Order: sequence, then structure tokens, then C-alpha cells
Amino acid sequence: MAGARKPVVEVRRSQRRRRTVSAYRDGERVVVLIPDQFSRAEESEWVDRMLARLAAREGRLARSDAELLTRATRLMDTYLSDYGTQAVPASVRWVTNQNGRWGSCTPADRTIRISHRVQEMPDWVIDYVLLHELAHLIVPSHNAAFWALVARYPKSERARGYLEGIAAAVPALAD
Ligand SMILES: [Zn+2]
Repeated sequence: MAGARKPVVEVRRSQRRRRTVSAYRDGERVVVLIPDQFSRAEESEWVDRMLARLAAREGRLARSDAELLTRATRLMDTYLSDYGTQAVPASVRWVTNQNGRWGSCTPADRTIRISHRVQEMPDWVIDYVLLHELAHLIVPSHNAAFWALVARYPKSERARGYLEGIAAAVPALAD
């Protein structure tokens, strides 16, 4: 995160824009699109407002990924500590492009991705989905050894029932 450092702002005026203002990050710069008829005062007011909005959006994403990693670390310590660094992921992230699965794990680069659909579920279900993917770092396939690791989490059965219920209601979703 860039922290308090003020980014380079490029303001682009557009004659086609009437009221809408938008902003996006382009490398080190932030591009702010404003209507051509805005006064200088309106321009500076809107640039400040859009920078604050952008920072809030980025802060929210960073914080929730950080929270996910904290949660994963707690689960590792509680249920998989005897595996030491074997169960330590390189990264744990929320993703929005994973609609067919609750979570996924790539053991080769030790990355874990959790679907944003899980974000609204109860804590004990999020913990199950995370622990399931952490266990895949140790055992990649769904064999008996894998399910024995998952069963260390006391609410595994209940969480699987919860997820199966949702998957039945939304057929595209499955483990
Ligand atoms: Zn699995």
C-alpha cells in the first residue's frame, strides 16, 4: 500500500460527461474523469472526493485479505500445527471470479483462493472452507488422509451440510 503518499493525479475533462465523475488507478497515477463544464473549485473538490473513495475501496480489499490470512493462521495453529510449515500458504485471497467453487488451492505455488460468495456465510462455515483448502496443502486429493485432517475441525460435517444445501439450491455450485 502506498500509505499516505499522495498519488499523481491526471484530470481528464470530457464534453460528453454531464454529471458523472469516475476515477481509476493507472500504474502510479490516478485518472479522474470529470465533465468539461466543472469549475476549478468543483474539479479540486471532486479530485479529493474520488481519491478518498478509491483509498477506501483499496483499503477494504486489503483489510479483508489480511483478515483472511489471520483467520488461516489461527486455523493452522489450532488444527494443523503438527505439520509445521507444510500447511503454511504463500497467499490467501478473496476472489470474485470463482463462481463454481467455494475455494481452491494450488499446492505447487501454495496459493489459496476463496470465493467472495463465502464472505457472507457464518464464521464457522468460512473456517471450514479455509481449513479444507489448507488441508489440501498437505494432501492434494480428496482421499481418506485428507478427510481425516478436515475432521479435526469439529464443525466440518455441519459446514459441509450447510454448503451442500446451498449447492443444491444453486446447481452450479459444488465443492
Ligand atoms: Zn477439496
